[in-house]
Amino acid sequence: MKQLRKVQLQSKSIKDITNGYPLILKDAIETPDIPLEEGNLLHLVDKSGGYIATGYYGTQNKGIGWVLTRKEKEQIDKKFFAKKIREAVEKRANLFASEDTTAFRVFNGEGDGIGGLTIDFFNGFYMVSWYSEGIYSFQEDIYHALDEVVQTRGVYEKLRFNTNGQYVKQDDYVSGEKGEFPLIVLENKMKFAVDLNDDAMTGIFLDQRNVRKALRDKYSEGKTVLNTFSYTGAFSVAAVLGGSTGTTSVDLAKRSLPKTIQQFEVNDIDYHTQDIKVMNVFDYFSYAARHELKFDVVVLDPPSFARTKKMTFSTAKDYPKLLKDALKITNEGGLIIASTNNASFNMKKFKTFIDKAFKETNTRYKIVEEHQLPEDFTVPHNFPEFNYLKVVFIKVMDVNL
Ligand code: SAH
Repeated sequence: MKQLRKVQLQSKSIKDITNGYPLILKDAIETPDIPLEEGNLLHLVDKSGGYIATGYYGTQNKGIGWVLTRKEKEQIDKKFFAKKIREAVEKRANLFASEDTTAFRVFNGEGDGIGGLTIDFFNGFYMVSWYSEGIYSFQEDIYHALDEVVQTRGVYEKLRFNTNGQYVKQDDYVSGEKGEFPLIVLENKMKFAVDLNDDAMTGIFLDQRNVRKALRDKYSEGKTVLNTFSYTGAFSVAAVLGGSTGTTSVDLAKRSLPKTIQQFEVNDIDYHTQDIKVMNVFDYFSYAARHELKFDVVVLDPPSFARTKKMTFSTAKDYPKLLKDALKITNEGGLIIASTNNASFNMKKFKTFIDKAFKETNTRYKIVEEHQLPEDFTVPHNFPEFNYLKVVFIKVMDVNL
């Protein structure tokens, strides 16, 4: 049985939580001195002890836990988890039925009613990510619930509760069939090689599905494409399949080279015809400028923070500079696809970074397309701050007016 703790909420947080805000912030608690342990169930009450919601205690970078229900009588047990997972699966019926796409998010944490837990589908395999020790303490019930609701070929997991969502290295196999990796998944008919048991990441960021499709279908034909922070080159694959005349993928990580070759190979693309550079993007910008290289399409998808020996980069601070660097090597009439997953600023703010960069370089631009999280990355109603992904397709008009 789970320990139940009665915890009094600050009066200013009561309205948010009643209105559906799912996160329990540290300063939402009136009585911070009560000793709480990871996985404790919290009965959140007002100052006269009146029931507000039930949550669990699980510290992660965003807060100290998540609301699970606002119904006092609802038990947090296997049945509860099965209900949440079933609802999430039903919402994705179209994706489950799709023959063109076999990798997508099945359960998106707070957007599906259980913060700190995500479940992804990879061609029959399920990958469960746990973002706190607290939510992981419910693993037995949650795994039973998952088995009850879906037929899993095999299950893998990522423990991300060491510090601030950092991945804890381990064997990620949980149950069922052991995958043979790379496992090939489909996304809008594109093939991607994934590995569910190698490091923190799988080889593909599923939240960019619609962006890859747009790049392939509308912006690649006959174009040269520079893919910066390219990781396994997924955007480059999309570009080549969309008719790009040549892609250049740039990533600092050594593993990006074999991984990108592999993504090309599984799509029957001769990787010798494409450029793959293992180098710092910022050095590449200078290299390209020196060699007078210019591209029709430039994809910018940096991590929120990056540190190299020489420099640190933060999207919240340095995005305008990144755009200016990219502009120097983008053809007039070309396109910059600017992406960020930094949750600390919203789309409106991101557009101010874009505006700043173009104004400062006297360049006219036009936003031709915008993306946020795709529908399987469900966001809680009325709380767009959980929609962390922001992608803007910017057409470069006249340079240096
Ligand atoms: N755009 C990719 C995901 C990018 S993940 C995709 O859609 O699949 C961020 C990547 O940036 C990582 O692979 C990391 O190795 C790389 N990276 C971080 N700092 C970098 C730098 N200064 N130069 C080049 N690559 C960098």
